[in-house]
Amino acid sequence: MKLNVVIPMYNEEGNVELLHKLLTKTLDDVDYELIFINDGSKDKTYQKLKDIYEKDPIHVRVINFSRNFGKDAAIHSGLTYANAEYTVIIDGDCQQNPKHLLDMMNFLDNNPEYDQIAMVNKTRNKENIINKLLKGMFYSFINKISDTNFVKGASDFRMFRSYVVESICLLAENNRFSKGIFSWVGFNTYYMEYLVEKRNSGKSSFNIINQFKYAFNGIINFSIKPLRIATVIGLIFALGAFIYLIIILIQTFITGIEVPGYASLISLILLLGGIQLMAIGILGEYIAKTYLECKKRPIYVAKNKLGFNKENIL
Ligand code: UDP
Ligand code: MG
Repeated sequence: MKLNVVIPMYNEEGNVELLHKLLTKTLDDVDYELIFINDGSKDKTYQKLKDIYEKDPIHVRVINFSRNFGKDAAIHSGLTYANAEYTVIIDGDCQQNPKHLLDMMNFLDNNPEYDQIAMVNKTRNKENIINKLLKGMFYSFINKISDTNFVKGASDFRMFRSYVVESICLLAENNRFSKGIFSWVGFNTYYMEYLVEKRNSGKSSFNIINQFKYAFNGIINFSIKPLRIATVIGLIFALGAFIYLIIILIQTFITGIEVPGYASLISLILLLGGIQLMAIGILGEYIAKTYLECKKRPIYVAKNKLGFNKENIL
């Protein structure tokens, strides 16, 4: 088979039919399979997926999660079932025009030296300035502290050759930060620009708080430098305190005992207390991640699947 399309879906009832129609039209001349993952949607997404499966059982496959496990788990489950020459991940909300799939396939066909294509979001005109600024800060920070390279705007809208998919599936970590994983596995990546379209129906699951959580998660997952930063800050303060102690001792011997100011004392205590709590917090984040990974829980649980061999239609 030439192409597998992996499509994570969370509350996308209004987009299933249109996306299926667009994909079917675009991939008319291609040997393909669509792997839809219903990530515990609370609306009628699964019913809609079942409808398109019944209409088009040759091309449609559905993995139905037992609850919401998140987009990264959905992507992982789709990739584990992919077996085509190329596999592409595309959002289920029609923001990424399927016409780009043909460009990507064409590019890989003609450029054997490239192993994966990452689509880079062209700035959405109406994107809020604060959002843009925060994203810019995130990329420059994570690139400074992580050995993995993160290209600004590179999305999960990617096409891989089969061996890249196999490598990605080898990373069995539970807490998955897909963007980092796609970059960590290496390979020769081509970055292609595209214009993000408006969501066809429904609303985005990634509000500003979720985006913060996502960014924080990415930093903890792909760098241990925050731990080192905490150590360095601690060392600097300890050294400062030691020098200050010597100064105070000398002053005491020369000019007699002096009672330092209340305000400076309180601010120092609060500052040091704050830094200590922050350092413990950073440590805690890594311990928590280690604890969760140690349990070796599955990345997702599927209630049933449609279109695969051991079919179990509910
Ligand atoms: N998604 C998912 N599970 C989630 C959240 C989102 O599978 O818990 C899917 C969603 O259905 C969509 C894609 O991930 O196909 C991107 O989500 P969204 O459009 O909300 O994000 P945005 O485009 O705003 O970054
Ligand atoms: Mg979207």
